[in-house]
Amino acid sequence: MASPSFRTPKGTRDILPGEAERQRDLVNRFGERARLNGFGHVVTPIFEDLGVFKRLGESTDVVTKEMYDFEDKDGRRMALRPELTASVVRAFVQHRPQLPWKVWYEGPQFRYEKPQAGRYRQFSQIGAEVLGTNDGAVDAELIALAWHFFADLGLAKVRLLLNSLGDQSCRPQYLAALTDYFQSRLDELSEQSQHTLQVNALRVLDSKRPQDQDVIDQAPVMVDFLSPDTGEHFASVRRVLDRLGIPYEISPRLVRGLDYYTRTTFEFAADALTSAQNAIGGGGRYNGLAGDLGGPDTPGIGFALGVDRILLACDAEHVFAGSASATDVFIVDVTGGDEASVIVGQLAAAGISASRAYDQRSMKAQFRAADKSGARCAVIIGDDELAAGTVTVRPMQGENRDQTAVGRDTLIEQLSKTLSDIRKTLT
Ligand code: AMP
Repeated sequence: MASPSFRTPKGTRDILPGEAERQRDLVNRFGERARLNGFGHVVTPIFEDLGVFKRLGESTDVVTKEMYDFEDKDGRRMALRPELTASVVRAFVQHRPQLPWKVWYEGPQFRYEKPQAGRYRQFSQIGAEVLGTNDGAVDAELIALAWHFFADLGLAKVRLLLNSLGDQSCRPQYLAALTDYFQSRLDELSEQSQHTLQVNALRVLDSKRPQDQDVIDQAPVMVDFLSPDTGEHFASVRRVLDRLGIPYEISPRLVRGLDYYTRTTFEFAADALTSAQNAIGGGGRYNGLAGDLGGPDTPGIGFALGVDRILLACDAEHVFAGSASATDVFIVDVTGGDEASVIVGQLAAAGISASRAYDQRSMKAQFRAADKSGARCAVIIGDDELAAGTVTVRPMQGENRDQTAVGRDTLIEQLSKTLSDIRKTLT
């Protein structure tokens, strides 16, 4: 009977060598930038009590339709995390660290979405959160962290969209005005938006359905309803962004997909991607979330960036191609193969990457493999060399291809020099 052939589950993908290194390089760059800005690294579990995520809001698709929730063997309701802010705030409430708490994170998220290009059921995010201050300067500094990270990758076609959603001091008035407005034009709204309106009028602004666009375009906007306090906060965020030289567009209908946001919200749009999937990151303030999760009332702000989509944007802009991880050295061993194992180990310990052939293949076959590997240099060992305690070093790239006999005890030294000479002629 033929064995079943398994494939990745729908909406997931294997990230193979080459692309996986590129992804890790991206994450490392982000982590380094975050570290330089005073952020510590936090790692939380991939699954949490379902209740942690329920707090994201009962009117968001992420919670109502897309959660990978399950019952564990003890009958507890758990969920794979759909995002990391809730987990980070849960960790904050659990550990009560010193304020302000500045942390960054990375890792896979899970949402039961309809898969398409740039939209997966398992995807990777990097992000940063600051808990413990309401200062608008933090909002601007966080935004700057992401902005400079994109620039560092070489992305030039990224736009920052900025909005303020107010807070309890003014949002209820806005919500009432917005609800009245949508009610007055109810017949023109799509059926889905009519339904959404009953749960949360703000979420209607999120609708991408063409039928709703005209009504949405004429809807009242939050920035006209900001209280003096939230208005001043928004002004301070913009002032610092101006001082930092970061361009932004005020986007009065930017409400974002999760219910917990207050005050500043923002999104990064990559113009090199098609508009349906052009959001490469976003975030905002969530001053009520720590309280909702059972902690002390603590202001917070954060963002998450989509690693998969950032890499798509890099492809589209032809930047951050990632470096091909070519092997430095290929060992051709015609004495049986044991020496190759020893030499590969010695070279790796000295920081020189090395590869070899197996199964005692012929010298010709080993050289073919060496060529295919893209190695810069071959190290050859035959019976004569073995007896004499030497190897032959043969450059396979660069100008000088002369081979030399080298004592085993000076191999590392010689190879380092040969590789450095080859690198010089290649650059
Ligand atoms: P959110 O947590 O919804 O604010 O998303 C933050 C970023 O994560 C988005 O701007 C996207 O770049 C990325 N993202 C969200 N959902 C997905 C998904 N299903 N597949 C790939 N990337 C995603």
